[in-house]
Amino acid sequence: MRVPNRINMKINVNQDLCTGCGTCEALCPSCFKVENGKSQVIGEGDCAKQAEESCPEGAITVEE
Ligand code: SF4
Repeated sequence: MRVPNRINMKINVNQDLCTGCGTCEALCPSCFKVENGKSQVIGEGDCAKQAEESCPEGAITVEE
């Protein structure tokens, strides 16, 4: 039996730090969506790491 690869990721956006700049959504639309000026986590995926590194406010944390 083949066990599927499971992504087990914990993605968080610090709402106090997020300025809603949209960088994370542009880099990783499967994981982030900016609503009402703040980024919300909407899913999981490898691109979350890239968004974490690119967030100008350091608001994103990704734990694997
Ligand atoms: S890149 Fe950072 S500051 Fe910009 S919307 Fe995403 S979480 Fe917020």
